[in-house]
Amino acid sequence: MVDGPGFRTAIYCAGCPNACPGCHNPISWDINNGHEMETEEIMKVIEADPFANVTFSGGDPMFQPEGFAELARAIRERTDKTIWCFSGFRFETLMQNPKQRELLELLDVLVDGPFVQELRDENLVFRGSSNQRIIDVQESLKKGFVIQNSQLAARW
Ligand code: SF4
Repeated sequence: MVDGPGFRTAIYCAGCPNACPGCHNPISWDINNGHEMETEEIMKVIEADPFANVTFSGGDPMFQPEGFAELARAIRERTDKTIWCFSGFRFETLMQNPKQRELLELLDVLVDGPFVQELRDENLVFRGSSNQRIIDVQESLKKGFVIQNSQLAARW
């Protein structure tokens, strides 16, 4: 319930070289702290809960864009679940990398940017620091600029 609005199945990946000072989950930095899972294995977990939407977190899913894109496509094809993703990359940076952009285009919401300790604010919803944005990905892609929507929590 802390990884986006409502009940969500959160997929935590290992691997994040961003090394933000004050990161809440430094054990996830080393990719060896995870274990490999097939897309079908993860889909079984996701489909087992008919009421939960999905969140990709970590670590940083954008360091494994091909695997997460395959998973996101399976979610899109087989369910009506929404997909949120947390990443230390900014939206504009992800748009420049073809593989990361492919994953981005499959998301509903991206919470973007590194955690910045000086901007930490405990009153923020679904974010650790005020530089991070809750982005409506599909609207942003349509309009050609970043659309942030603080009402997303109510809708999704
Ligand atoms: S991007 Fe997220 S997981 Fe990676 S170091 Fe920064 S806060 Fe931690």
